[in-house]
Amino acid sequence: MAVAEQNDVLALEARAVLRDALSVSQAPCVTCSFQAEDMVVLALAREVAPDIPVLFLETGYHFAEVYEYRNAMTARYGLNLVNVVPEETVAAQEAEFGLLYRSAPDQCCKLRKVKPLFGALERYDSWLTGLRRVQSPTRANLQVMDTFPLPSGKRIPKISPLAAWTDREVWQFARDADIPLLPLYDKGYTSIGCEPCTLLPIDATNLRSGRWAGRKLECGIHIAGQ
Ligand code: SF4
Repeated sequence: MAVAEQNDVLALEARAVLRDALSVSQAPCVTCSFQAEDMVVLALAREVAPDIPVLFLETGYHFAEVYEYRNAMTARYGLNLVNVVPEETVAAQEAEFGLLYRSAPDQCCKLRKVKPLFGALERYDSWLTGLRRVQSPTRANLQVMDTFPLPSGKRIPKISPLAAWTDREVWQFARDADIPLLPLYDKGYTSIGCEPCTLLPIDATNLRSGRWAGRKLECGIHIAGQ
């Protein structure tokens, strides 16, 4: 099958997944780090639910380029952006604990990403993501349709329509749909999170190898029981 046809098939399948999922959801949301796959799943989701809440984990530690891009994309597409913020500001957390991203990145992610997101998800009845299996060995068994147990005991449907997509397919879709991508990709970054924890990839075959300098693989928002 030609690349263009393959992409059309993948997009059709993703649209069908999203249509089915959103037809039974009264309060869906999509998490978005404004990386390429999130922009693709967001574009597809907005075909069905134009005002879907777009949850951005506002840790306070993002690259300036990410904030600029988030603002530009929010204006361009009229996104229903929801900044999910931690209990403490960066200044308050650093005054209390120092630079947790150096001394205890798990705790930092828990305070600035995991707890705020799990709290925010209580308001929704389905969670769309741009997760893909090829992103990391930790995502190799990712299911398109899953349920995720929140700490409260609530189980929220978690839908990842791009689970089987390759990088090339994501980039091709973005090109075809005229979605501009985060300029940091042009500088060689392949996975982009908070600035203090994002380096250029160490291993070209592992997109997330520049995250946390190899100290950990996930922030925890996709791991149950955090
Ligand atoms: S990615 Fe780094 S800076 Fe961001 S919340 Fe996690 S440890 Fe903190």
